[in-house]
Amino acid sequence: MSKQPVLLSAHNPSAMTGPGNNTYLIVGTDGRAALIDAGVGHAQHLTELADRLSAERCELRHVLVTHGHADHASGGPALATQHPAAAFSKFPWPGVDDRYEVGWRALADGDTVSIGDEVLTALHTPGHSPDHLAFWIERTRTIFTGDLVIPGRSVMIHTSAGGSLAQYFASLERLLALDALVLLPAHGPRIDAPAEVLNGHLEHRRMRERQVLDALRAGRATVETMAESIYDGLEPALMPAARENVRAHLEKLQDEGLVVQHANRWHIV
Ligand SMILES: [Zn+2]
Repeated sequence: MSKQPVLLSAHNPSAMTGPGNNTYLIVGTDGRAALIDAGVGHAQHLTELADRLSAERCELRHVLVTHGHADHASGGPALATQHPAAAFSKFPWPGVDDRYEVGWRALADGDTVSIGDEVLTALHTPGHSPDHLAFWIERTRTIFTGDLVIPGRSVMIHTSAGGSLAQYFASLERLLALDALVLLPAHGPRIDAPAEVLNGHLEHRRMRERQVLDALRAGRATVETMAESIYDGLEPALMPAARENVRAHLEKLQDEGLVVQHANRWHIV
């Protein structure tokens, strides 16, 4: 029987990553191991990974990357140098993947990767980014959720870089339908009440949507003025992210025919 996934911090704390990204090491029964997400190549991450692999007497054979954002993928080349037997896999994102010089292997929705007796299934779950994958272990009903879920925080939807709020809603619904026991996110602590947290994220988005519509009704017509009214008191470093989220809501509402845009001003239909 395989062991519990081992949490290894990527050691990259910041306003956007919180205490830093989580990466997870899955140690197989056959001397092979897989790492979920590559981190950023921080020396301490590389050392802790190497120490753990040697303690477990196993070799890193797979690095499975949830998506192409730098805090998840940019550690690829450093890992590739230290672990030449490792294959690097992700859902393709043309124009982004080649920022990281590793030979990416393409994963599609439903593809499986075996590590010893553990089987991981890739779930294409776009929304936060177009290439986002979650990884599902049915045996333990565990999902590695990447950036789909951040306990106690709102997930960024990068509409100007391939994100889509409508897809994000669908991806959360898809995870909810799996009826998982544990979610292991790329930021924040492990989640032992998946349905509660997933429903919380869905409800949070619905609330933001109501706030965007209320701001429009109150005469706030630009992304900037809407973000200021909705995210009043937010740390200045996080305001660009807040504006991006407002934009994500407006684009979803526009696709649904509920709002229109003229120049940079938005109006309810
Ligand atoms: Zn991300």
